[in-house]
Amino acid sequence: MTTANTTGTATLTDGVRAEATIDLAALRGNLAALRERVGAATVMATVKADAYGHGAVRCAREAVAAGIGWLGTALPQEALALRAAGIRPDQARILCWLWTPGGPWREALLADIDVSVSAQWALDELLAAVRATGVPARVHLKADTGLGRNGCQPHDWPELVGAARRAEAEGLLTVVGVWSHFAAADEPGHPSIQAQLDAFREALAYAEAAGLRPAVRHLANSPATLLLPQSHYDLVRTGLAMYGLSPVPEVGSPADFGLRPVMALTARLALVKHVPGGHGVSYGHHYTTPGPTTLGLVPVGYSDGIPRHASGTGPVQIAGKWRTVAGRVAMDQFVVDLGGDTPAVGDEVLLFGNGEQGEPTAEDWGRACGTISYEIVTRIGARVPRRYLGATTEAPTADVPAAEGVPTEGVPTGGAATEGASV
Ligand SMILES: *Cc1c(COP(=O)(O)O)cnc(C)c1O
Repeated sequence: MTTANTTGTATLTDGVRAEATIDLAALRGNLAALRERVGAATVMATVKADAYGHGAVRCAREAVAAGIGWLGTALPQEALALRAAGIRPDQARILCWLWTPGGPWREALLADIDVSVSAQWALDELLAAVRATGVPARVHLKADTGLGRNGCQPHDWPELVGAARRAEAEGLLTVVGVWSHFAAADEPGHPSIQAQLDAFREALAYAEAAGLRPAVRHLANSPATLLLPQSHYDLVRTGLAMYGLSPVPEVGSPADFGLRPVMALTARLALVKHVPGGHGVSYGHHYTTPGPTTLGLVPVGYSDGIPRHASGTGPVQIAGKWRTVAGRVAMDQFVVDLGGDTPAVGDEVLLFGNGEQGEPTAEDWGRACGTISYEIVTRIGARVPRRYLGATTEAPTADVPAAEGVPTEGVPTGGAATEGASV
């Protein structure tokens, strides 16, 4: 069964096919490093998308226990799940920012969740919910300062600000925050950076001139937190950096920023066998053995979040040596050419980790697959059990009961808990 240790060393739990270990001591260390970096500003722990695959409730609880007073989610359902898991408003404010018509506004008000408003339709729906529940809203008005995604365009800003100010005067809401999001904070010197800083200052000045007094002005994501101190304002919304990955790998490694990767992904060799030269490997035979060799079967595939783009290129470490995915990644498994070596069936395959054992990192996987480390960790699927190391807080009590030999901790909410759930 699972035994928590505090060393941060990932060793596969007995009897499991694969697992993601989540080093909560590293998470706390990263948050401490980020807090030190931003000085007087506050750090928001961004735990959307199941904390980038790391487990939202576990990571949020550790962050709160470490003194982080703000949590960020994209979806209101994600925010509600944190409150349902027992994170109280007196422990942490939760802001969620991606709303669609229908809300759930009332539930968010009743759960004391801060809401982002980017457009008049959202303000109208929110105010209807305020009148229905009698609970005033805490609102963060979002300006589109150039990203061209969510947020209110400058020509609509006066109208939105005016409507929010009138609702505030009626006691229906408080504009707690004014905020925006960068397009290219990860590209130092990109002309959009200064343009967005200027546009944000203008949006703020307009809001303040209209009588709003937002206590929390925020603009910075992880790359801006690391590279643009002039963007920190009152709060920074860090996601990737708190999980110990660098959002700007060309500028600096995690270690350069005082960060350590939190997630490691390990699997167990399911088969080792000798094959002759000229043997095709996996669907489509995109790899053929160059001579007599040994093949190792790694029992994770794209349903577990291993990108199919890793076919022929994804790196793993087995018995201290780097190997490459041979041929296509399938739904549940892939193969590596072991070059004649004969590690034992059941030996560990390190897909990625913090690199301290010489293993590949999520950054290496991102590069191999033509994507970013954000996507590598976030897509690790619900079929992969999470094992938590170095916890200072207790596991959620609402865990799905697990099968024998499968860790019970930190199963993502709604996710499959057991190996038996695989197809
Ligand atoms: C995801 C997200 C963040 C966090 O981004 P990182 O680059 O991971 O720090 C911050 N703000 C918003 C609006 C986001 O959607």
